[in-house]
Amino acid sequence: MADLASQIRQRYLYTLEQIAVAARRAGRKPEEVRLVVVTKAQPLDVVQATIEAGVDLLGENYPEEAVEKIRSLPNAGVMWHMIGHVQSRKADLVPGYFSMLHSLDSVKLANRLERFCVEGGHQLPVLLEFNVGGEESKFGWQAGDESRWSSFLPDIEAILSLPHLEVRGLMTMPPLAEDPEISRPYFRTLRRLRDFLAQRFPAVSWDELSMGTSIDYIVAVEEGATLVRIGTAIVGPRPPRG
Ligand SMILES: *Cc1c(COP(=O)(O)O)cnc(C)c1O
Repeated sequence: MADLASQIRQRYLYTLEQIAVAARRAGRKPEEVRLVVVTKAQPLDVVQATIEAGVDLLGENYPEEAVEKIRSLPNAGVMWHMIGHVQSRKADLVPGYFSMLHSLDSVKLANRLERFCVEGGHQLPVLLEFNVGGEESKFGWQAGDESRWSSFLPDIEAILSLPHLEVRGLMTMPPLAEDPEISRPYFRTLRRLRDFLAQRFPAVSWDELSMGTSIDYIVAVEEGATLVRIGTAIVGPRPPRG
């Protein structure tokens, strides 16, 4: 195995081990947590090295960049998750390429996705993105103020009525912080919001919680994450976006 692939493999195995330790510490089973390795902004050779390292689930943020990579690696035998904001006019780049969308953030996008799913004959598992940290720059429904959670219900009802989208749970990206403990209350909020929605919509499976990145994934696993999205800690620093 080439140098880069074996470095990535070491960091990948180390991260899986850390996830397993954190899961057991929290009384959970390690296999309840899936690791999405984030290759956004990484060139194709780094993506290839990541696949060679044994990674089978990759996360990408920018639809065009991602689809170009996916088309370049047709027989890679890996799964791709879209984890970044998708403008509704790019909704056609999701169904058929990605096995899950973590970042569904509007009814408008949901309606467009549904249309392309119908046209292509796809079912698309999705997570609803919530902004629990209140930052203006982040996408997702504003969920920092618990007293306003009921205001999401009409949007969610509209999304649940779309037959080709399968809602599986929630996703969040808390404010960037050096100290992982700062993320803990945000992860707890997302889990409580999940429980709130599960009560309102008991027929839907709300199992998935996509939360935690390189800095705070251990805390996220302790707080119930079923999907962690880790880039730099495994693949290395991202080149500046050109
Ligand atoms: C970039 C990104 C990640 C990965 O961040 P790292 O700090 O590289 O682990 C996870 N989730 C989303 C939504 C991202 O944009």
